[in-house]
Amino acid sequence: MDVRDGFTEAVGNTPLIRLRRASEATRCTILGKAEFMNPGGSVKDRAALYIVLDAETRGQLRPGGVIVEGTAGNTGIGLALVGNARGYRTVVVIPETQSQEKKDALRLFGAELREVPAVPYSDPNNYVHVAERLAAELAAREPNGVLYANQWDNLSNREGHIRSTGPEIWRQTAGRIDGFTCSIGTGGTLAGVGLYLKQQKPDVVIAAADPMGAAMYEYIKHGELRSEGSSITEGIGQSRITRNLEGVAFDNAYRIADEEALPVLFDLLRHEGLCLGGSSGINVAAAIRLAGELGPGHTIVTILADGGARYQSKLYNPAFLRSKNLPVPDWLAR
Ligand code: PMP
Repeated sequence: MDVRDGFTEAVGNTPLIRLRRASEATRCTILGKAEFMNPGGSVKDRAALYIVLDAETRGQLRPGGVIVEGTAGNTGIGLALVGNARGYRTVVVIPETQSQEKKDALRLFGAELREVPAVPYSDPNNYVHVAERLAAELAAREPNGVLYANQWDNLSNREGHIRSTGPEIWRQTAGRIDGFTCSIGTGGTLAGVGLYLKQQKPDVVIAAADPMGAAMYEYIKHGELRSEGSSITEGIGQSRITRNLEGVAFDNAYRIADEEALPVLFDLLRHEGLCLGGSSGINVAAAIRLAGELGPGHTIVTILADGGARYQSKLYNPAFLRSKNLPVPDWLAR
């Protein structure tokens, strides 16, 4: 029988999908790793799972224990589901600006939600710091252990990608891969996949895909953490070097505006049947740019991080797009 044992084994082994129009336009092979097909609907199921398994191994979580995390949503969704499957309660701190769909999913999945105002990381009331303080408070009174998941600086996050996503991509492409593009939230995906692929093939090009408002593009290009502009994309856009990003050699970086990423997303939905979230648009747009630089005949892999239904009230909502002065395709306006 070909059976996976529960949620834990259902994470990963996602398909690698050839993106037809991007491939034809660049005369390259552009492949998307379908992370939206994970049971929790995003690439973050992998980080959530490996962080929890590692905490169990270290004895930090016992049955009935509590997982605490600050999250843009997807990691919280992954943690809540892993928690349900393995016997833990999950408490999530989320900036109130994140999509209603993700907040509703978190509540449905049983996470206890604390919404906080969206303020920068430098502010002590940023959701990341609130989550860390909350974990410390709970640790004093929870008998079965409290795990502050800390996806940014907990290396189990990228370890999950070194052990699963990287090897899957290597196997699925039979080693015929020339480049990898990926955006950065914690950096776990880019770092883990990048470290693994470089180990197999040192000349594979590892390129970061940054939205406007993030600082990694300037850091990789000019060694300075500096940002400009803003983006409607959720879950990505980092302003510091997380522990998960340490020691990673980047070969290139692209800064992708929403005006460039959205038409790519709309095209994927209308012409290829793939309804994806905003970070996937940034990732595929960066893959197209890298293909343009490498020239015809190359193979580039990128990440389709989550599904578009999670952002129906934003990315795929004409009124929201107009409020941000972003273009609305005719078929969406109807
Ligand atoms: N895309 C989406 C939709 C996400 O939710 C996240 C994580 N917040 C990322 C990309 C970034 O992944 P990572 O944390 O591995 O950098």
